[in-house]
Amino acid sequence: MTEAEALKIVKVEKESHDTTSIYFSGPDMARFKNRQPGQFATIRIFRDGEWSEPHPFTLSCAPEDETLRMTIKKSGAFTSAIPDIAPGTPIQCSGPFGQFCRDIGTNQHVVMIAGGVGITPFLSVLRHFKAIKAPSSILLFWANKTPEDAFAALELEELTKELSLHVVHVFSRVAPEDQHPAALHADGRPGRISHEFGRLDQSIFRRYIPSMDASFYLCGPPPMQQAVLDELKQFGVDPGSVEKEAFVFSAKP
Ligand SMILES: Cc1cc2nc3c(=O)[nH]c(=O)nc-3n(C[C@H](O)[C@H](O)[C@H](O)COP(=O)(O)OP(=O)(O)OC[C@H]3O[C@@H](n4cnc5c(N)ncnc54)[C@H](O)[C@@H]3O)c2cc1C
Repeated sequence: MTEAEALKIVKVEKESHDTTSIYFSGPDMARFKNRQPGQFATIRIFRDGEWSEPHPFTLSCAPEDETLRMTIKKSGAFTSAIPDIAPGTPIQCSGPFGQFCRDIGTNQHVVMIAGGVGITPFLSVLRHFKAIKAPSSILLFWANKTPEDAFAALELEELTKELSLHVVHVFSRVAPEDQHPAALHADGRPGRISHEFGRLDQSIFRRYIPSMDASFYLCGPPPMQQAVLDELKQFGVDPGSVEKEAFVFSAKP
C-alpha cells in the first residue's frame, strides 16, 4: 500500500498521563463495517519516511462508529511516540481480528474484569451496548493503580445512566487518607459506581457478584490475569469458563 492509499489519522486525544486515543479514517472503510465489539486490528504508522512495524490494538470504538479509534498506553518505543503523532499522518490498518467477547450480547448477566488498558475491549462493548440499548446486566471491575489511571471513569459513569451497568473501581495505590468518595469523583448514587482499595481478590468478588449465573470476561496483563483467575477459583468460578484476552504480542519473528 502506498502512502497515498493509506488511511489517515484524523484526531489524537490525550486520555491520561500515559494513554492516548487515535482516531483514523479514509478510503476502503467497508471492510471494517461488520466488525464485532472487542476485536483488534494491527496498525503501521508512516513516520520519518518509512512504515513502522505492525502493532496490534483493540478497536476501542463501537462497531457503529464510522471513524476507527484505538486507545494506546505508553509501553515501549512505538507506543511512547503515539502522543506526538500529528493529524494527517498516514496509517495502515489490517483487520479486524479476534473473537474476544464475540457472544457477550447473548448473556443476560455479564461480569467484565479489566486491568489497566485492558479496559479497551470492554469500552468497545459498552459503547456498542449503548448504541443498541442492550438489556444486559453488566458488572465491571476495573483495576488500576490510582484514579488518575482510570482514564475512562467519567464516560463509564455516564454509561451507568444508560445501561444496567455497575462499575467497581479497584485502586491498588491510594493512600488511606484519600480513600473517600469526594476524592474519587463519585456521584453519590449508591450501587452504580463503587470504589475498592487494594488487590482485586475474592472478598471483593463476594461483595458484588450476586450469583455464579453470569458470563465472565477478563482482559489485562498476564500476571494480573493469573492472580484474578486464582481468586475467581477460590470464589467458585471455573477459570476455564472465563473468556480471556491478554495483550501479548511480538512483532519480531
Ligand atoms: C490482541 C491485542 C490487543 C491489544 N490492545 C491494546 C490496546 O487496546 N491498548 C494498548 O495500549 N495496548 C494494546 N495491546 C498491546 C500493544 O500491542 C503493545 O503494548 C504494543 O505493541 C507495544 O509496542 P511498543 O513498541 O511500544 O513496546 P515494546 O517495545 O514491544 O515493549 C512492550 C513492553 O515490553 C517491554 N520489553 C520490550 N522488550 C523487552 C525485552 N527484551 N525484555 C523485557 N521487556 C521488554 C517494554 O519495556 C515494554 O514494557 C494489545 C495487544 C494485543 C496482542
